[in-house]
Amino acid sequence: MSQRPVTRFAPSPTGYLHIGGARTALFNWLYARANGGTFLLRIEDTDRARSTPEATQAILDGMAWMGLDHDGEVVSQFERAPRHAEVARQMLEAGQAYKCFATQDEIQAFRDKAKEEGRSTLYRSPWRDADPATHPDLPYVIRIKAPLEGSTVIHDAVQGDVTIRNDQLDDMVLLRSDGTPVYMLAVAVDDHDMGVTHVIRGDDHLNNAARQMLIYTAMGWPLPVYAHIPLIHGADGKKLSKRHGALGTNEYRQMGYPAAGMRNYLARLGWSHGDAEFFTDDEALEWFDLDGIGKSAARFDFKKLENICGQHMASTPDAALLHQLEDFLAVTDAPRLTPEQAAMFLEAMPHLKERARTYPELIEKAQFILASRPVQMDEKAASQLDSVSRGMLLELTPQLRNAKWNRADLEAFMNDFAAARDMKFGKMAGPLRAALAGRSATPSVFDMMLVLGQAETVARLEDAGQGGD
Ligand code: GLU
Repeated sequence: MSQRPVTRFAPSPTGYLHIGGARTALFNWLYARANGGTFLLRIEDTDRARSTPEATQAILDGMAWMGLDHDGEVVSQFERAPRHAEVARQMLEAGQAYKCFATQDEIQAFRDKAKEEGRSTLYRSPWRDADPATHPDLPYVIRIKAPLEGSTVIHDAVQGDVTIRNDQLDDMVLLRSDGTPVYMLAVAVDDHDMGVTHVIRGDDHLNNAARQMLIYTAMGWPLPVYAHIPLIHGADGKKLSKRHGALGTNEYRQMGYPAAGMRNYLARLGWSHGDAEFFTDDEALEWFDLDGIGKSAARFDFKKLENICGQHMASTPDAALLHQLEDFLAVTDAPRLTPEQAAMFLEAMPHLKERARTYPELIEKAQFILASRPVQMDEKAASQLDSVSRGMLLELTPQLRNAKWNRADLEAFMNDFAAARDMKFGKMAGPLRAALAGRSATPSVFDMMLVLGQAETVARLEDAGQGGD
């Protein structure tokens, strides 16, 4: 690549980072980072009612959680309004734009008549070629002088060549009569001034590209590469909306999906590298390219997301996973782990992380660590403790006090204990799980015993054995 790419993510603040926006940001981030380029962030905050500091913060938080670091200062589009106006005036001076004094009523009358006569209702201003000497002293907008013939071709890296006939583009307003710039001008000027080389965004902006290109061309600016990515759909093939489930990355964070799994899943959503489903950030950075982006809408699939997240949890080093779990507990306002609990988590992590797909699943499996005596049982666990199994526990505990506390000895000891009673160890596992964890789905009994230690194990078994009397 001759030039290092500059990409950007340009969200409008809505109060959260939309999952589709997160994927757009991720693609821009991957492309920049994969090619030694720069990834910029611009907040499109011209809608003043929606653009609160909290709404911007929500985007920054979402990106931070997703691990998408941007370069340089966050650009505020609103603050750049004087520069947008300056460009409109430059175009005016260069004859690429003109003052239009038409009133709303006049424009409406034009449209009504065009409709009546079966012509295109695209507004054609009589001021386009008017002699400035004839200009009245009235409010005006500045309109671009769009080409009337020919066509504008977007050479899109995802969609291929998209041709738009110029007679379908009107002389759009650049600057309103109150001097404020329109959105289309702001985007083109910002992208140019920020040195953006690759505009990677949702394909709902494809038509805008043609209009933005007119501004580039009028200013003699080199065009960026456009890559318009198909939107994300729900499982039913309809555009992703609230009724398909969570939309904001903050909700996925709250639900306890690991960020690495989200990155992997969102990268795969609409982009592919052979048949790779599970991959690391390093692999994604090595493989990511615009060629791998598909042309059709991707469908959001919670099962796949969970599956990928599970694989990431299983492959995260234990200490790092514990760290992530503590971050998760902090956002959910759950009590912090005590140092003892944290130490037990670390020891148990290889077993806990095996089949967990989210942090709550990890926590559920770790109830034996979080519980304190007397252990509260859920209904299923409680049903394991009848008088027979309680008797078994009370017989077991005095002997366990003298057992050697390592896996091989414990296994041998328990199997002997079961054999002496003519049963399989499996029969004892339910009551033991209930006594140690208060749950029926837990790591293996031996894993729990080893993590809890001899004294705590014996005490919990005794509690359960004596319970209900
Ligand atoms: N602000 C636009 C949006 O949130 C994106 C504009 C762009 O990427 O050019 O959809």
